[in-house]
Amino acid sequence: MNLDLRDLYQEVILDHNKRPRNFGVLEEADRTAEGYNPLCGDKLTLYLQFDGEVIRDVRFDGSGCAISKASASLMTESIKGKSRKEVEVLFERFQGMVTADSATSPNTDHLGKLSVFAGVREYPARVKCAVLAWHTLRSAFSLEPKVVTTE
Ligand code: ZN
Repeated sequence: MNLDLRDLYQEVILDHNKRPRNFGVLEEADRTAEGYNPLCGDKLTLYLQFDGEVIRDVRFDGSGCAISKASASLMTESIKGKSRKEVEVLFERFQGMVTADSATSPNTDHLGKLSVFAGVREYPARVKCAVLAWHTLRSAFSLEPKVVTTE
């Protein structure tokens, strides 16, 4: 990854950390789930509102490091208006990107802005911060939401 890209990635992450999108409580949520990453202390609650199989609205709140917050913020932006199936595909792609061998070049196909997290592959402890929101999302999809941890 060249240096300019790194700078750009960092800028997007810092921006979403500072001004998280879709941040707050969604009173009319159909599903909520909580996620916790004990390694870093990241905590978040995810609120989802469905229109059939489509995510009509999504919000999150909680506290955590810049990576976990920016990841949750960018995730909410990228899943709004998508079906569960589409979101599952996105989850697999995102997970694949952040857990891939850092010696290979990242596969950022169809990930759009989410590709800013390709760099966390090089920091294994940070991967859990980046995937926390996604694991929480999966938990919210399941019939019996429970607190998930990245452990
Ligand atoms: Zn973290």
